[in-house]
Amino acid sequence: MATGSINVSVENIFPLIKKFLYSDHEIFLRELISNATDATLKLKHLTNIGEAKIEYGDPRIEIKIDKENKQLHIIDQGIGMTAEEVEKYINQVAFSGAEEFLEKYKDSAKDSGIIGHFGLGFYSAFMVADKVEIITKSYKDEPAAHWTCDGSPTYSLEAHDKTERGTEIILHIGEEESEFLEDNRISELLVKYNKFMPIPIKFGTKTETLPKPEDAKEEDPAPTQEVDNIINNPNPAWTKQPTDLKDEDYKSFYRELYPMQFEEPLFNIHLNVDYPFNLTGILYFPKLGQDMNMQKDRIQLYQNQVFVTDNVEGIVPEFLTMLRGVIDSPDIPLNVSRSYLQADGAVKKISSYITRKVADKLNSLFKNDREDFEKKWNDIKVVIEYGMLSEEKFFEKADKFALYPTVDDTYLTFEELQEKIKDNQTDKDNKLVVLYASDKDAQHAYIAAAKDKGYEVLLLDSPIVSHLIQKLETSKENISFVRVDGDHIDNLIKKDEETISKLSDEEKETLKTDLEKVIPTSTYTVQLEAMDSNASPFMITQPEFMRRMKEMQQTGGGGMNMFGNMPEMYNLIVNTNHDLISQIKDTKTDKKKERLIKQSLDLARLSQNLLKGEELTEFIKRSFEMIK
Ligand code: ADP
Repeated sequence: MATGSINVSVENIFPLIKKFLYSDHEIFLRELISNATDATLKLKHLTNIGEAKIEYGDPRIEIKIDKENKQLHIIDQGIGMTAEEVEKYINQVAFSGAEEFLEKYKDSAKDSGIIGHFGLGFYSAFMVADKVEIITKSYKDEPAAHWTCDGSPTYSLEAHDKTERGTEIILHIGEEESEFLEDNRISELLVKYNKFMPIPIKFGTKTETLPKPEDAKEEDPAPTQEVDNIINNPNPAWTKQPTDLKDEDYKSFYRELYPMQFEEPLFNIHLNVDYPFNLTGILYFPKLGQDMNMQKDRIQLYQNQVFVTDNVEGIVPEFLTMLRGVIDSPDIPLNVSRSYLQADGAVKKISSYITRKVADKLNSLFKNDREDFEKKWNDIKVVIEYGMLSEEKFFEKADKFALYPTVDDTYLTFEELQEKIKDNQTDKDNKLVVLYASDKDAQHAYIAAAKDKGYEVLLLDSPIVSHLIQKLETSKENISFVRVDGDHIDNLIKKDEETISKLSDEEKETLKTDLEKVIPTSTYTVQLEAMDSNASPFMITQPEFMRRMKEMQQTGGGGMNMFGNMPEMYNLIVNTNHDLISQIKDTKTDKKKERLIKQSLDLARLSQNLLKGEELTEFIKRSFEMIK
């Protein structure tokens, strides 16, 4: 038996490993299964090229819990190691890796990707085990080796009588880590990290029902048998060629990824590049609706089919983190901090590749089946609009397929919209004016008024729409957006058939004074306008600019905080040609006049949903009194 001291300068490395990686203890299993997988794939390669003259067969990796002895076993049928190799790879290489790791990541060892990349993989076993044994038999014709280490830098290495090829790692699970002796806990870890690893992983057995033999009687129970419980799918959809997959295959893979997700995805994008970086994956567009909140079913990042994280921030552009699916790339550096990641050249390329692929896919969906694309629009618009706001490249591409729905459920591209309004909706500076509503019910009266005049009204109801409008106004030439209840709407009305006012200037003057006695001028700016006698007598509009700034602040970004604190301001448009206004003007008693004005103002407020609480109660009471 050989004993020795592991080549390491740090006095005792294990307490440090435990401390630094505290929050990530569970990843030891992923690391050991990754090693077992590598060892099996290496053997496959060697048999393929004729280097190893053995039958590759159908190797598996087995995970076994031995509760009684407080042991966890990870067994593979891979390439194995000779005693010499154990000496070299485990005692020397691994620890130099460990030193490097400690050097670099004293403060920030939380990123679970770190381990495998610094040769610390195997030693992560000591996060959960007091003692670790390796029993390994190389595919070469050499005796098996038995290595034992109890967590101090000394180890023992001796011969072993194991005859089958492969490696068995035995973890003597520590007192405080007994969770890793529970079936449920191990099962959970296997599903989380190893669900799509390329070598079948066995964990226990399960009972399978067999078909009844033909001569079986009705009441005979179906025969059963115990079979290996394989926890993974070694050939997940993203590793296959898109041409070999049908729509149903993509859908069933989605269900495999997110078993708790009952809604089907809208469509998918298969990613497949090998130059200038390696990346495969499948992204799904889920039904999102208005939902901007991050869901718990997120895009999962894999490295060679090993789960790394579901935090892909920095790797895919932010607007695409709302999608679901998987990305697998050996080229994403996982051993560095997120901020470094964003500056990394390869990562930038990956991010812009994904953006481009998504834009291309959306464009082809739009071109190939516009009707279907329109149907999906409400469920995907949040992603697209967010992308248009945050990624300039995407904004340019999205111009072809981004849709602008009208209140009558027709969907226009920006170009079509321009074409439609160019003769009818211009202001005095000849700028195109796009009218939009954000809520069909609340703004019903305004929409109806605009449509009466033959205007096109869009329905833009995403939560980020004010940002998008701002972006469109600055990127596109000669266009402005006005909400149907916004103040600029008056500019739009071509004054070619100017309505003549029924009131003289003098009458207007006294009317205005009377109105301002009753109407709180700190909130309302009174404007007299001669309009059609059928138009509403009192109408409230809100300054477009102010409203938009406030909205943008609520949804984050844009503008300074001063707008948020500004009091609400409105315009009160009084139609001097309406009979009611004449009546107000001619009313003799001040009391009655005041009552008429108050009631009219409240009606206007009611139609803008501005009358609430006590004031609303008062109004209702007053109205009942009046009709009694
Ligand atoms: P890494 O896997 O990053 O190289 P590890 O510390 O996990 O670092 O492993 C060190 C080396 O030990 C591996 O490169 C491999 O040569 C060897 N090794 C580890 N586990 C096994 C195994 N199950 N079968 C064969 N060789 C192994």
